[in-house]
Amino acid sequence: MSGHRSKRIVVVGCGQAGLQAAISLRQRGHTGPISMIECESTGAYQRPPLSKNFILSKADCSDLAIRKDSFYRDQNIELLTGRLASSIDRARKAVVLSDRSELGYDCLALATGASARPLAVQGSEHAHYLRGFEDALALRTAFRAARQIAIVGGGYIGLELAASARKMGLEVTVLEAADRVLGRVVAPETSRFFAALHRERGALIQLNTAISSIVKSRSGRLLVSCANGFQTEVDVVVAAVGAMPRTELAEVANLDTEGGIVVDVRCRTSDPLIYAAGDCTSQQLQTTGRFSRVESVQNAIAQGNQVAASILELDAPAPDVPWFWSDQYDMKLQIAGLSVGYDRIEVHGEPGDGSFSVAYFRNSALIALDAINRPQDFVRARKAIGHLQQSLAQENKETEVSAQNGAGDGPHQFH
Ligand SMILES: Cc1cc2nc3c(=O)[nH]c(=O)nc-3n(C[C@H](O)[C@H](O)[C@H](O)COP(=O)(O)OP(=O)(O)OC[C@H]3O[C@@H](n4cnc5c(N)ncnc54)[C@H](O)[C@@H]3O)c2cc1C
Repeated sequence: MSGHRSKRIVVVGCGQAGLQAAISLRQRGHTGPISMIECESTGAYQRPPLSKNFILSKADCSDLAIRKDSFYRDQNIELLTGRLASSIDRARKAVVLSDRSELGYDCLALATGASARPLAVQGSEHAHYLRGFEDALALRTAFRAARQIAIVGGGYIGLELAASARKMGLEVTVLEAADRVLGRVVAPETSRFFAALHRERGALIQLNTAISSIVKSRSGRLLVSCANGFQTEVDVVVAAVGAMPRTELAEVANLDTEGGIVVDVRCRTSDPLIYAAGDCTSQQLQTTGRFSRVESVQNAIAQGNQVAASILELDAPAPDVPWFWSDQYDMKLQIAGLSVGYDRIEVHGEPGDGSFSVAYFRNSALIALDAINRPQDFVRARKAIGHLQQSLAQENKETEVSAQNGAGDGPHQFH
């Protein structure tokens, strides 16, 4: 046991997941050296406020810090900011930084997160993106000088930004290529509610409207044209069309990647000394059996804790029910579970009252719930889905044992 606790650990990425891995390592008794490599100029900070209150506030990055600078010193965690990890020498167990210096490891954790998906249209260089603090600062400055803006993408980040921009008095057009907003994550009932909310508050929501180009005029205004003929001229364009996992380091190291760094239930990659956590990972969901990427603070924290437990060879933390939230105007959307593969929904309450929930079932079992201003439904659903997860985990354990006894291998093998 003491051998595990003195290992030299290197964590690439000091975001929510990387920091949680380091916190958890220390909390669970790791005494050996921990180094964190972060290419941004600061330690971990909260990203969720960037699309919510931050744009409206005067807050600085230090206001969003997850831990104070003193935390890293007090916990004896070496934080190397402004440094990019550019490759991994697996044979020599070393991470190579962009300045060619190296850090040796006994165990390596990759927590490299995701980056904003770029727009693939002519003139995309004129668009703003939102992933990090610097992006949010640039956007805040641009919004303050603007009158009209276009947001490409009606997902969480696009809609949260739309609400913030309306609160600043801007004219907002949301361009969504699909036939409804939030289409990848919620049922049509929830989508309809949020589209109506934004329209009521004065935003123009254009559905079935895929952007095709952005042209900058001499005056600096941006002409946005769409495939269906819709056009609008604005001061600022923000692209909020999803995120892409940062797998480049894992790929050059020849680790398994498939829409994310592939990890098993204990966050182990295809190299026994390398673990991964957070937005950069692709993990098999207990509920569907499919490999998926979950982009949420809850997942980053749960996987960070899991990495620490795996490195220290301790019991896995109890599985948490995935959950997510989004704040738009005075509406709090809380989502428990993952609705992928649902076969039936039930709506409780009245969308017209601004307080209702949508429950998702598969084979009669509750697998997810969207609660809109109904926190009590959210809490109850988390509990119920937790029970289902536990019984599935138990079933999976039993299946694993029978597989080890000769029933054959699953699609992804680890070690
Ligand atoms: C605007 C916005 C709003 C959001 N709102 C919500 C919300 O309401 N609720 C919710 O649950 N989630 C929300 N999320 C998602 C949530 O913030 C992420 O799921 C979470 O931050 C993931 O943590 P992570 O550590 O995996 O990745 P990140 O927080 O992205 O951290 C990864 C870090 O790794 C660093 N890095 C990457 N590659 C390298 C390298 N090669 N060398 C050195 N450093 C590297 C990056 O600079 C970054 O700091 C939001 C995200 C954004 C962008």
